Amino acid sequence: SAAKKDMADYLVKLEKQFTLTPQRMRMIVDSFIETLERGLTAKGQEVPMLPTYVFGWPTGKEKGSYLAVDLGGTNLRVCHVELEGDGKFEVTQTKYRLTEEQKHADAQGLFDFCAECLDNFVKDHFGDEDGKVELDEPIPVGFTFSYPCEQDRIDHGVLIRWTKGFGAPGAEGKDCAELFKQGLEKYVHRDSQKVPVKLVALINDTTGTLIASSYVDPATRAGIIFGTGCNAAYMEKVANIPKIKDLGLPEDAEMAINCEWGAFDSTTHETLPRTSYDVHIDETSNKPGEQAFEKMIAGLYLGEIFRLIMCEMIDEGILFLGQETYKVEKPFVFDTAFLSLIESDTTDELLTVTGLFAHFFALDTTVAERQFMRRLAVLIGTRAARLSACGIAAIVSKQGLLDDSTEPAKTIGIATDGSLYNKYPKFPQRLEEGLVDIFGEKGRAIKTYHAEDGSGVGAAVIAAMTKARK
Ligand code: ADP
Repeated sequence: SAAKKDMADYLVKLEKQFTLTPQRMRMIVDSFIETLERGLTAKGQEVPMLPTYVFGWPTGKEKGSYLAVDLGGTNLRVCHVELEGDGKFEVTQTKYRLTEEQKHADAQGLFDFCAECLDNFVKDHFGDEDGKVELDEPIPVGFTFSYPCEQDRIDHGVLIRWTKGFGAPGAEGKDCAELFKQGLEKYVHRDSQKVPVKLVALINDTTGTLIASSYVDPATRAGIIFGTGCNAAYMEKVANIPKIKDLGLPEDAEMAINCEWGAFDSTTHETLPRTSYDVHIDETSNKPGEQAFEKMIAGLYLGEIFRLIMCEMIDEGILFLGQETYKVEKPFVFDTAFLSLIESDTTDELLTVTGLFAHFFALDTTVAERQFMRRLAVLIGTRAARLSACGIAAIVSKQGLLDDSTEPAKTIGIATDGSLYNKYPKFPQRLEEGLVDIFGEKGRAIKTYHAEDGSGVGAAVIAAMTKARK
């Protein structure tokens, strides 16, 4: 039929736009390496390469009782972590849902809510029947706040800009550790109750992931998040961070760097192969011109890219002929989880896909349409993984980790977390294939694996490392 031919033509066009050749990937890696180096040289660069004031690797012997609060993207999480040393730990946690309103209402309200949840958690776990909490000394709190913050010490961090769809006014340019502390004053410290908690560290989830994974596996070299957003952290030699020279740290010291790599190529848009759909997402976002790399990769955006393509094809009379399509025409109704679902359908008739469109969007689909959807999901998901491989390759190359020619090659561990990595079918395989396309066979020494809980265990280990330094 005509519609079938139109779909096939579209697919050819989309394949061209979304496919990354190994050669193109290597070009992206080269530009990425330069960008990372520029970020280490001076403040205020496109990819800011933020010093975290987390010095060196954990020993694995860190011990003690810690609280962790995680403001990440979708949920707010509070946990209690008992570090037992020898890379072992126990975690108890509670999740609290964040509303869209809270993400955009006054920032102090958002941090107050974090404090209130922590207060409730502490009362539930450490309080008597009346919620009264008696402790000999305050429990150290690690606050995982996964937005780019400029830090000049570990328990402090000025928010550079919101990302991942957050926009609460009154936070950008402010010390968010301080805003959280003000919330703590209102909740945890009220009724002149004995102060049971103390904020000791402001942590990015990527740094937490790096440290938590290294706590249990010393092969870890980078921590990466593929969730609502996308970002990476790794350990850098102080000698390679010219912009912190003034601190007078020993040259052989190391500090974790939160890359904030989602901002890559946002200034000139010269390197990444952006499509009209990527441009549309950027221009209609609450932060146009920012996070160009992240917007092509992260969970918040992949479903929307898919949806925009469907909408264009609806307009051109190719998909869902003669049906009411308004349900699918609302921005952001097509979650990235749907792409996972489409890619995991192994039936010939693609029955899960039938169900998905019928149930969520009241749309009937032909087999040809469903096959097209599947191909489209593969294109979008594969591009995301291969672009991510470019970022990982840049970190690995920059540190010369593959230059060592000992046999067998030492494993370069990439600790990875987030729904995209954990739940999207084949995402890990596509990442690793991408790394082999970039580096050839020696790229197989780079292994990605599911990270330890960065914002819980990682926050606790960092809090413990902070205590040990004092
Ligand atoms: P965080 O908000 O802390 O980053 P997640 O790692 O769970 O949390 O990431 C949430 C993002 O992952 C959302 O953008 C959502 O669309 C996407 N997501 C949720 N489930 C899946 C799935 N099964 N497959 C792919 N993406 C998913």
